[in-house]
Amino acid sequence: MPADPVAIARDLVRCRSVTPDEGGALGFLQGLLAQAGFDVHRAVFAEPGTAPVDNLYARIGLARPNLLFAGHTDVVPPGNEASWSHPPFAGEVASATLFGRGAVDMKGGIACFIAAALDYLDAHGGKPKGSISLLITGDEESIAVNGTVKLLKWAADRGEKFDNCVLGEPSNVEVLGDTIKAGRRGSLNGTLIVTGRQGHVAYPERADNPIRGLNVLIAALQTPLDAGSEHFSPSNLEFTSVDVGNPTVNLIPGEARARFNIRYNDRHSQSALKTLIEKRAQAAAAGRVNFAIEWQPSNADVFVTEPGPFTALAITAIAEVTGRTPKLSTSGGTSDARFIKDYCPVLEFGLVGQTMHAVDERAPVADLITLTAIYRRMIERYFG
Ligand SMILES: [Zn+2]
Repeated sequence: MPADPVAIARDLVRCRSVTPDEGGALGFLQGLLAQAGFDVHRAVFAEPGTAPVDNLYARIGLARPNLLFAGHTDVVPPGNEASWSHPPFAGEVASATLFGRGAVDMKGGIACFIAAALDYLDAHGGKPKGSISLLITGDEESIAVNGTVKLLKWAADRGEKFDNCVLGEPSNVEVLGDTIKAGRRGSLNGTLIVTGRQGHVAYPERADNPIRGLNVLIAALQTPLDAGSEHFSPSNLEFTSVDVGNPTVNLIPGEARARFNIRYNDRHSQSALKTLIEKRAQAAAAGRVNFAIEWQPSNADVFVTEPGPFTALAITAIAEVTGRTPKLSTSGGTSDARFIKDYCPVLEFGLVGQTMHAVDERAPVADLITLTAIYRRMIERYFG
């Protein structure tokens, strides 16, 4: 009997695996994969100041190539459960649609990949021609420090090598088959701090209001960073908060701050971007504004997966099943692909993202079946 992606997705949704809780989700997958002959490992990672998080790595086969499927079983909280039309952790199927937190992001994707892999194994005497691996974390939706980044390192230390990876995040925009994500922009956070001299508002000549200087620098830093590149839209710096924290009406503050985030493309490296911003601020300050920029550490570098044979294979598999030719996109926020790209080329392809993180998150049963067929064809072509 072929594996049923809807049943697997439903059982996963029923696990209350809000980050950092495992919620039974990895235990469930472990049982399923072990039964199919996978060698399954669990690894709990922790570090000071963070909650320990459970992760899973499974592999079947010893030979190369090793096709890796990556994903996360953790989900964001459901919010007010009363506003859901079906309880968020009940895994109810109604109107041919699976409802529940994680149905789209991304328990549905994991279920489809596993169903496809089990079906492939069933058709090939229980063994792939190379290897199929799964790298499943419970730490993606939160700070992502005890998940994929550490699990990849753990696997590499064991001598695991990966040839290609599909990350099953909901990559499609409107309809299944419209988009593969083949890279992501980088993300960098900074704080601009202007120092003046505190004083009485009635005697401004004795003070130096830092808000004036902050205005000048904010305006200067909002000029375009570039015009985009072959694979990316233009980089963007966005101010997210302007803070003086002055509760007093007759006081000129001594310091003013503004926080900003930059989403940047492959025309910049992190360090070059920092230099560019600091130079622009310096030019605008013209020696008259006393400022500093504090940069927060970032593990979200820009990357692009250049089209190659595996991208072509994925596009063909999607087109064969859906009749659509997906476009290669680098839009959206960051994902664990930023860590995987250091080990092997990675593409992101999963369900349609419309309802992810929303009330009544849901995946049509038809989409779960179609996505399984796409993954099945990818696996077949990969080892064919
Ligand atoms: Zn996700």
